[in-house]
Amino acid sequence: MKSLLDLEEMINKLKKEDEDSFRLFNNIFHTSRDSGSLKIPSSFKEKVHTYFGNKDEFGNIIESPNEVIERIKTQKVIKTYNKWTGEGSLFNSLRASRPGMKPQERSQEQEKIKEYIEKSRENCDFCQAEKYTPEDVFGRVQGKHCITGSNIAKYDAWSSIIYFKKHNPLDFTQEELFDYIETGFKWFKKVHNYDKQFISPLFIWNCLQKAGASQVHGHAQVLMTKNIHYAKTQFLRKNFRSYMQLTGRNLFKDIYTVHKALGLALDSEVNGFASLTPFKEKEFTIISRDNPSTNEEVKEAVYKVLRCYIDKLGVSSFNLAISCPAFGETFFPYIIRIVDRGSILKPTADIGAMELYGSSVISDDPFNVIKSVNEFRQD
Ligand SMILES: [Zn+2]
Repeated sequence: MKSLLDLEEMINKLKKEDEDSFRLFNNIFHTSRDSGSLKIPSSFKEKVHTYFGNKDEFGNIIESPNEVIERIKTQKVIKTYNKWTGEGSLFNSLRASRPGMKPQERSQEQEKIKEYIEKSRENCDFCQAEKYTPEDVFGRVQGKHCITGSNIAKYDAWSSIIYFKKHNPLDFTQEELFDYIETGFKWFKKVHNYDKQFISPLFIWNCLQKAGASQVHGHAQVLMTKNIHYAKTQFLRKNFRSYMQLTGRNLFKDIYTVHKALGLALDSEVNGFASLTPFKEKEFTIISRDNPSTNEEVKEAVYKVLRCYIDKLGVSSFNLAISCPAFGETFFPYIIRIVDRGSILKPTADIGAMELYGSSVISDDPFNVIKSVNEFRQD
């Protein structure tokens, strides 16, 4: 099976078999491979065996102490860097070799998360959004499965919430997700009609507290800004423009082409891929020229990725963001990103100083992610 740890070999193969993609890869990415070595004192060997030994389904370690020590002693690290988006990640062979959650463990965890979500129903204001949340000065946008309301502690002048009718944020159908997205885009139009200066939309969804949500109840957020975009989108726009000026090409199309050539893209017309430079675990990107609220294929792809993450890969907390072109702007595409933020049952944060100020440290292999998503779409 393909693994990011073999990236170098894959690039060499690309060089021989697909020169155009190889050239694009080098224009956009920088990658390197290094090995780190260490020594384990004999007093520590037994503990290392217990901590890192691969286990069978009954929890028995199936490797000898020497096998485990060998794996620890030399660790391969692959670095990826996108010169245009500024994203960069570190993949370590030791982290990648850790076995994933077994089906039984996953269903136990899913059961616990369900219980936690059920408990939070008591006194949930968002369950009665019309009664217990503020509305925008122009009123609320009514979806079939959601309703908007103003954010009581605003991020920005125009900062509102899409309250899902369902309390459980992990329980949504395709029709419901489509409605959440469509309602968000109706809100953008409402704001723009109310004040024409506000032209740059952002749609975000922080699902559960590990992803930054303060309330369990399902809700996404919508924002509109004037003058310049939010910082991350503004940065991408600037570099998108520079790349176009320098090469006459579309940066995101080229990023997609490279991912496709390496086998990291969706088996679909939709331009989606598991990122080579994820910000955190399982980051998935979908690029669209069309407004996703009116493109069924794009919305369906978003739905399938999310359902695969939740139902198959056991994701409970995630972020979703739709970065948009400004109203009337045609050169910049819509960029949808989804990232796993770790189990809500674990108290440690998934992001530390490395992610904030260094490069992202990643355990999940993007080749496993795309395989899971493509298989899930076939089922
Ligand atoms: Zn609720």
